[in-house]
Amino acid sequence: MENRRPLIAGNWKMFKTSPEAVETARQLVKLVAMTTDIDVMIAPPFTALAQVSDVVRGSCVSLGAQNLFWEAQGAFTGAISPAMLVSVGCKYVIIGHSERRQYFNETDETVNKRIKAAFDNDLIPVMCVGESEKERESKNTFSVLDKQLKKGLEDFSADNLKRLVIAYEPVWAIGTGKTATSEQAQEVHRFLRSVLEKSFGNTLAKSIRILYGGSVKPNNIAELMAMPDVDGALVGGASLDPETFSKIVHFKE
Ligand code: PEP
Repeated sequence: MENRRPLIAGNWKMFKTSPEAVETARQLVKLVAMTTDIDVMIAPPFTALAQVSDVVRGSCVSLGAQNLFWEAQGAFTGAISPAMLVSVGCKYVIIGHSERRQYFNETDETVNKRIKAAFDNDLIPVMCVGESEKERESKNTFSVLDKQLKKGLEDFSADNLKRLVIAYEPVWAIGTGKTATSEQAQEVHRFLRSVLEKSFGNTLAKSIRILYGGSVKPNNIAELMAMPDVDGALVGGASLDPETFSKIVHFKE
């Protein structure tokens, strides 16, 4: 790995009421208190963000949201603006998760608008890309990822994208217990970096963190992190339990 600081991020999806989220965050903060060389982020549901923000303040755990809407404000019932996330202490925002694409009709075009809105509000977007099982089997993995990346990042310049984080999450590995092998992850991460290099130049491509996501657990994180282009993980199921997630954060030990 170049000089990229690892990021271990937890996506809590639609799990945990506010009291449950607060308790989980409290335990996690204690368990990872000594972490200095890795960035740690958790993305609770919107309803718990403000309270979890109070718990993680001053700790090594940063706060992220699971989505945002690109408009600043207005008659958009049910939507959450970037400024609302900033106001409760979010630093990161997950964008284009495959569950959003699959169940809520999000597209590369809306991913692009969301990323722009995140940057405009100083939030770090964690842009998710990934192929389905059918796309992998029909050998379309690279073309699907190429399109997701290029369309999602259309009209940005290298200068805009300095803080971007990408999460490669093969859809067939999310919540299924099937993990891509570390070699499969590395192959795709290298490919994504090469697409970034062609579009935005070598300096940016080398500096962008690319996380792997899909059934990451304490027993597979170390071998994934040993790959030169894997800079961290986006963890779903295994981030819900603080002990388990802290073991992933402490993958080096
Ligand atoms: C995710 O939600 O981004 C994810 C990767 O889930 P899981 O770790 O449960 O596969």
